[in-house]
Amino acid sequence: MARVGLGHDTHRLVEGRPLILGGVRIEHPRGLLGHSDADVVCHAVVDAILGAAGLGDIGDHYPDTDPQWRGADSTRLLTDVVERVRKLGWSIVNCDVIIHAQEPKLTPHKPAIRASLARLLGVELASVNVKAKTGEHVGPVGRGEAVVCEAVVLLNPLTTEG
Ligand code: MG
Repeated sequence: MARVGLGHDTHRLVEGRPLILGGVRIEHPRGLLGHSDADVVCHAVVDAILGAAGLGDIGDHYPDTDPQWRGADSTRLLTDVVERVRKLGWSIVNCDVIIHAQEPKLTPHKPAIRASLARLLGVELASVNVKAKTGEHVGPVGRGEAVVCEAVVLLNPLTTEG
């Protein structure tokens, strides 16, 4: 039976940090604050995969108190979790994400983020979708204080039984 998982993450947008979304470095004067590289997209997708597999959340597996993950490239977390669920007998069917950011404008970056996620998840491009929304100048996203990402992932058992 297929299983769906939901992921969500928020990081503050601050001066002096790189902006990395879905493993793609985006040139911008501000970036996301966090113990790791604060890739809000990878974190939301990791949580969606863990959710679909019934494996808890990102903090259970990659605690920010663990020096191994401090400053970590979040694509490592994503490829690790993909390998983990594959070993448990799951294949990734598709992934859909919404990135909420007032700045920068993400439209020109969506294809690169999509391609990066497809590569990291080991699925074809058509199985990944990336949407971008502004915050309409209201709330933490709209004031440019944070970037938020939501993700859903569908997993299928590798065996077709049942
Ligand atoms: Mg995070």
